Order: sequence, then C-alpha cells, then structure tokens
Amino acid sequence: MGQIVGFICSKCSYEKSYFLGTGFRNTKEKKLYECANCKVLKASVLPIPKCSKCNNSSLIKLLDYEKNFNCPKCNSKDYHLGITGNWD
Ligand SMILES: [Zn+2]
Ligand SMILES: [Zn+2]
Repeated sequence: MGQIVGFICSKCSYEKSYFLGTGFRNTKEKKLYECANCKVLKASVLPIPKCSKCNNSSLIKLLDYEKNFNCPKCNSKDYHLGITGNWD
C-alpha cells in the first residue's frame, strides 16, 4: 500500500508522480524529501538520501505537500501538488 503524489509545474507543464510508501516488491518505505539547498524534490528509501541535482545530503523529510517547490525542469517556483491517490 502506498500513496501517489503528483506534482505539476504551472509554468512549463512538467509533471512527475512519486510513488510513496511500500509496495509488493519493496520492503523499504519510500518517502519524499525536499533538498534544503536547491528545493528540489526527491523520493528515496534511504535514511539519508542525496539530492540528485546538487548532490547535497541535507534533505528534509517532507510532511507538507501543499506548498510550492522548485520545478526540476525550469527551476521556477511553480511546481505544486496536482494529484494525490492511493495504490496497492
Ligand atoms: Zn539539491
Ligand atoms: Zn517548470
């Protein structure tokens, strides 16, 4: 069981869905993190994940999805929550 959180950029229309929680094959729980440095989102099962963009390891576990983030594509602050759902 898990949660799907989909984000979309209202500027460049880039969208990405993150599958969080644990699935059939994964025994580790996937969580969503925000990079403290470049504000990009990253889904990871690691306890201390690294940002795939700036390589910083100071990522913050995300509890609030209802705010704007930096778009991984165009870097504008218009990357926001589009859809949420559940999967199993
Ligand atoms: Zn970063
Ligand atoms: Zn964008």
